[in-house]
Amino acid sequence: MATTSISGQAVSADAGRRLLDAIARELPDLRLLTDASDREAYRNDETAYLHAGLPLAVALPEAAAEVATLVRLAGEHRVPVVPRGAGSGLSGGAAGIEGGLTIALTRMNRVVEIDRENLVVITQPGILNAELKAAVAAEGLFYAPDPASYEICSIGGNLGTNAGGLCCVKYGQTRDSVLGLEVVLPDGRVIRTGGRNVKDVAGYALTHLFVGSQGTLGIITEATLRLHVAPPPRSTLLAFFPSLSAAGEAVAAIVGSGTHPVTLELLDHETILAVDDAFQLGLERDAAAMLLVESDLPASAAAAELDESVRACEAAGSSSIVRAEDPTEADWLRQARRLALRALERQGTVRMEDVGVPRGRVPQLLVEIQAAADRHGVRVATFGHAGDGNLHPNFIFAHDDPRAAELTETVRDEIFAAALALGGTVTAEHGIGLSRRAALVDQVGPDVIDVMRTIKAALDPLGIMNPGRVI
Ligand SMILES: Cc1cc2nc3c(=O)[nH]c(=O)nc-3n(C[C@H](O)[C@H](O)[C@H](O)COP(=O)(O)OP(=O)(O)OC[C@H]3O[C@@H](n4cnc5c(N)ncnc54)[C@H](O)[C@@H]3O)c2cc1C
Repeated sequence: MATTSISGQAVSADAGRRLLDAIARELPDLRLLTDASDREAYRNDETAYLHAGLPLAVALPEAAAEVATLVRLAGEHRVPVVPRGAGSGLSGGAAGIEGGLTIALTRMNRVVEIDRENLVVITQPGILNAELKAAVAAEGLFYAPDPASYEICSIGGNLGTNAGGLCCVKYGQTRDSVLGLEVVLPDGRVIRTGGRNVKDVAGYALTHLFVGSQGTLGIITEATLRLHVAPPPRSTLLAFFPSLSAAGEAVAAIVGSGTHPVTLELLDHETILAVDDAFQLGLERDAAAMLLVESDLPASAAAAELDESVRACEAAGSSSIVRAEDPTEADWLRQARRLALRALERQGTVRMEDVGVPRGRVPQLLVEIQAAADRHGVRVATFGHAGDGNLHPNFIFAHDDPRAAELTETVRDEIFAAALALGGTVTAEHGIGLSRRAALVDQVGPDVIDVMRTIKAALDPLGIMNPGRVI
């Protein structure tokens, strides 16, 4: 008997049974979930609307050696493997494959070493981003990558997706904080790439190849990450605008001013209302857009940096500007921004997208997003990391709207086309995963896809590692 996997590959039930027997023989102490209700919890990530498969089993290893054995056995029995972190992904990358083996790294969640002298941390992948931040903060240090989901996503998932977040505008994406990795390859070998060196050009940049590959090239079992000495508490301002394009102009002006705010986030009118309703912040409810701008420089330098942003916002026509009175108020405003998706979800079914453009083109992208939604009568709320040129249009539907899936496809395809016409990307941080594969071809073209397939085939000739995702 055979079942069809999400990637179209047939996974034989006999092969699955033989794999489970082999795992029981070679790893008798491994925690392995085979109960249907347990496995069901690993079917989806945060893209529950995608069609995902039920894993044959879910392995919860505690050591790289166990991961290596699992991968080797899966290869021997031709059973696909899905690496999984905390399952908060927004592209279906960790979604189950029918009859496949999901390897969840959540029990490998130990900080191995904090090396203050070299400003690095060595960590296992299953630790949550917020837990790692707290562990290094206790030593007066700062781990920068800061996805809005930082309390519910793992470092392994951040590495798998090359996650972005609220302070990329100053500190870069996850990739910019990675110095070295330990990776279990699809044939079960364990390799180490990079290390503690800040500069290292020995051979191909394999560390950066694995980051963002969404578990299709190997499983990351340890990471050496760059730290900073903890910056001072942030100084924060909110600027409100009468139009989206005015806010977009202010973003372009701040980016072009030569200052380096640590946060430069945009919320449109729908998002302002949703966040204000949810958290009672007293925001300017009739504004078309709001910017959240933050500086993590010492006090007087922060004031000067924010003064520059105030000038840019006023020149772009802001209707009002407020500064947070103290770090607690600033933390609360940032937390409200992080929870924007959850606030929108109180209003219906939300489908979130993730497009990016060169930063000076944010105003045009904002206009194109609204125009595409208006053409099809779809309610859209847009927020995002405007300082990186990265916006998240969120399509909002009534829970029982039967047109949700079809309209999402139509509007997002038009937004993808607009982003590409502006020199942008169909995903800036969430990844191609399952949900954006066709759009990847449109963006990069057949030759680049061919190079990606060649790399995939070289590392994973059996095609067992997260097949059907990315390419
Ligand atoms: C409310 C909300 C806000 C969000 N905000 C942001 C944001 O600001 N920025 C952002 O970038 N994302 C954001 N996300 C998306 C998501 O949180 C990130 O993509 C995150 O990096 C996923 O981490 P995870 O541990 O949940 O990974 P998972 O969803 O479990 O996996 C993600 C991908 O990484 C792969 N993977 C996981 N672990 C490993 C490993 N050890 N080795 C190799 N591959 C691995 C998986 O196969 C999968 O392809 C948000 C999501 C939500 C729900």
